[in-house]
Amino acid sequence: MLLAERTLYCEGVKLKCCWLLLLGLGTVWGQRTVSPAEYQTRRQVMVSEQLQARGVKDPRVLAAMARVRRELFVPPDQRPFAYEDRPLPIGYGQTISQPYIVALMTELLAPGKKDRVLEVGTGSGYQAAILGRLAGSVYSLEIVPELARSAALVLRTKGFRNVRVREGDGYNGWPAFAPYDKILLTAAPPEIPEELLAELRPGGRLVAPVGADAQNLVVVDKALDGKTQTRTVIPVRFVPMVRFGSRP
Ligand code: SAH
Repeated sequence: MLLAERTLYCEGVKLKCCWLLLLGLGTVWGQRTVSPAEYQTRRQVMVSEQLQARGVKDPRVLAAMARVRRELFVPPDQRPFAYEDRPLPIGYGQTISQPYIVALMTELLAPGKKDRVLEVGTGSGYQAAILGRLAGSVYSLEIVPELARSAALVLRTKGFRNVRVREGDGYNGWPAFAPYDKILLTAAPPEIPEELLAELRPGGRLVAPVGADAQNLVVVDKALDGKTQTRTVIPVRFVPMVRFGSRP
C-alpha cells in the first residue's frame, strides 16, 4: 500500500515536470519563431510606416518591398528583427541596409522592366532580390566569397532566376554583360570609379553612396552624348567599398 502510494507520487511529480518542460519549451518556441502570417503583417506595416510615411511613392517599388521576404536574407538570429527600421548585421562585419534606404535607392534608380542592372555589394542578396522583381536582369558583385555564396544560394532557391551573383571586386566592374542600363552601389567608394561609369550605357543612371568619411547618396545621369550630371540626395552611412586585397 505504502509502496503503491509512493509510486503514484513519483509518477505525479514526473508528469508535472514533463508539463513544465513542455510549457517552457512552448514559451521559448513562441518567442523565437514568427509565423509567415505575422511576417507578412510586419512587412505591410514596414511599407506604410517606414516607406510611404517618408515619401517613397513608386508603386512598383512599394509592391516589391511588400512582396520580398526580408527575413529569408538575414541570419536566423536576426529574423525576428527583419522588419525593424534599422540595418542588421549579416556577418563578416557587413550589414543589410535599413528598408527605407533600400526603397529610396531603388526608387532613385528607377529600374525599368527590361533594364540590365549591375549591383556592387551583394551582401545578403536582399537589394538584388528587390531589383530582380523590377528589372529584366540583375548582375551583382560581392567581394566576400562567403557572402557571395550564401546570397547566390538563397536567391536561387527562392526563385530569383534573373539575378546572377559573382564573387569579385566591384572596382573592376563586370565587363562580360556591360553596358548596363542602371548601376547601383551599396558600398561607398571615395569617388565614383571610372570603370563603372564606363560600363554605364549612355542614357543610363548610377546611384551610389560616395565619400571617404562623410558620405552622400548621389545620382549620376549619363546623357546620350556620354556627359555625366551628378546630384546629391542625402547624407548616408554605408560600409566602405574596399579594394581587392584589403578585404574586410
Ligand atoms: N546590398 C546589400 C548590403 C550591402 S553591404 C544587401 O542588400 O544586403 C555592402 C557590401 O559590399 C558588403 O557585403 C561588402 O562585402 C561589399 N563590398 C565592399 N567592397 C566591395 C567591392 N569592392 N566589390 C564588391 N563588393 C564589395
